[in-house]
Amino acid sequence: MEAKLTTKKILISISYPPLDSSKGTPFLTQNRQFQWTNTGNVIFPVIPAYAATYLQKKGYKIFWDDAIAEKISYNVWLKRLVNKNPKIIVLETKTPVVKKHWQIIKDIKANFSKKSQPVIVLMGDHVTALPEESLKYSSVDYILTGGDYDFMLANLVDHLYNKKPLAPGFWYRDKNKICNSGKFSLKHHNLDVLPIIDRKLTKWHLYAYNNTNYKYKPGAYIMSGRDCWWGKCTFCSWTTIFPGQSFRSFSVKHTLAEIENLVNNFNVKEIFDDSGTLPVGPWLKELCDELIKRGLNKKVKIGCNMRFGALNQEQYNLMSKAGFRFILYGLESSNQKTLDLINKNELVKNAVNTLTLVKNAHLEPHITIMIGYPWESRKDIEKTLNRARQIFKKGLADSMQATIVIPYPGTPLFKYCEDNNLLLTTDWDDYDMRQPIIKTSLTSQEQFNLVQSLFKGIINPEFIIRKILSIRSIYDIKFLANYGIKYIQKLKDFS
Ligand code: SF4
Repeated sequence: MEAKLTTKKILISISYPPLDSSKGTPFLTQNRQFQWTNTGNVIFPVIPAYAATYLQKKGYKIFWDDAIAEKISYNVWLKRLVNKNPKIIVLETKTPVVKKHWQIIKDIKANFSKKSQPVIVLMGDHVTALPEESLKYSSVDYILTGGDYDFMLANLVDHLYNKKPLAPGFWYRDKNKICNSGKFSLKHHNLDVLPIIDRKLTKWHLYAYNNTNYKYKPGAYIMSGRDCWWGKCTFCSWTTIFPGQSFRSFSVKHTLAEIENLVNNFNVKEIFDDSGTLPVGPWLKELCDELIKRGLNKKVKIGCNMRFGALNQEQYNLMSKAGFRFILYGLESSNQKTLDLINKNELVKNAVNTLTLVKNAHLEPHITIMIGYPWESRKDIEKTLNRARQIFKKGLADSMQATIVIPYPGTPLFKYCEDNNLLLTTDWDDYDMRQPIIKTSLTSQEQFNLVQSLFKGIINPEFIIRKILSIRSIYDIKFLANYGIKYIQKLKDFS
């Protein structure tokens, strides 16, 4: 490879090419369940942003190329990329768009001259599960497996330009033979080695406004943990790149440095921590105490993902005092059999108990629900939907997302469906939540009707009156108006 190039001359592009579809905008990166959405929401890719910052610190030039967030056309994007002429192009992919990425790789290779062919890298949960597939069906050069894109990309660049050995976790071709450097390992990667994210480099403003996780804007994303300290739900696509037992977090000091940078230098008003589940225990107590001590609780609101049954009233009260506002929970189902089969390790009764504690602490909980589990009957689904309606009627949740469960390659749920002949298709294009993939006793239309009836059913008079009575400021009015619009757009996602 081009060992004579100095690091300053090596341009690395972290790219999200436009993915044109009548279904809407793709939700990639740390969205554990892929969706096309009509809501216009965009998500900041946190780990790729660490990769960009880390590589820049090592002296490489970075091009942050998120054409999805920039909303530019495919042709404009491709021309711009060719003009930039990067040596390495990195693409994060997911199951429903992997075939599109194979075609894009073909287009990139065809548009770059023979002399300046870039090295193309694919990363993400799908290619971690099926690394050979992309090498077989596309001209990608390297498959990066596991979720530590930052450490792994730094190693790959060092390998290509400084002849360092390749770390375990890469798949590539050698004389037309598919080879790999061994199973990826996360345990030697100390997250605190990473610099805080360079927000200008990673164009933070593109992601600061259009996201329903923010009531106060501009907003920003962080991830203080990788990824979830439970990490064993059988449907969760990110357990493929961050298997259970591999959970690590940044130190509280590092997390506070991220928060202070966003508040002091970018005037960010709300931060969403997109760790699969936020670290708890002494880590969370220390974070809350420091947020209060440093006065950050008066300057910024914080949101996060959490599990039912993980925290008590005192802990939620402390979070509320420390500036937390928005907490997301995966309810998934109200059938204990389902929670057990998906290895959620939760009790149905925990949901209402936890939501009561959360509301007592004046926090705003959001719940996510899935239908279409292969073992659930219509009666089981209705039980979940009725429970969700009751939760809203009692004012125990402020917002909700309902989706159809999709078995992604690499997850135990996919294997279960494969072993039991329950997959309706293995055309990855169809794994986008727009149609059921798992054989169940209900037709697709029946499943969609149920999801839509739930979205419509939660908007009852009690809910509306409670929302109006909860208005305290102009932020609340704007947020509610925006939420109403996104809600209608969301219904379109399931039409
Ligand atoms: S709780 Fe389950 S679904 Fe949520 S991030 Fe952890 S493993 Fe994934």
